[in-house]
Amino acid sequence: MRRNARRERPLNVEVTDIGAWGRATLVAEYDPECNTIRVNARAVEHVRAALGDAETERFVAYAVAHERFHYEHPLASEAAAHDHARARCDLDPARFEAVLRAQSG
Ligand SMILES: [Zn+2]
Repeated sequence: MRRNARRERPLNVEVTDIGAWGRATLVAEYDPECNTIRVNARAVEHVRAALGDAETERFVAYAVAHERFHYEHPLASEAAAHDHARARCDLDPARFEAVLRAQSG
């Protein structure tokens, strides 16, 4: 794994309300100012209500893996970030996406 200056800073992870983006619930974001990945508490609540605690942990792990990939590979595509998170977490995000789409519709 490549190391660079940014990676010397510890990466923080928070679950917090980061609101909605258009009609969709924003799932997660990386804030370079605070070097923090924020996972949207609204999305976490929706997934927990629909799929339970164990799946919620996997959902958060997926979201963090996705954002961490953007952080480590700023020029990589959205599709590459999804591929990375899917492989790393060994799950299909389609089920989470279906839950979140149902909530935001
Ligand atoms: Zn992304």
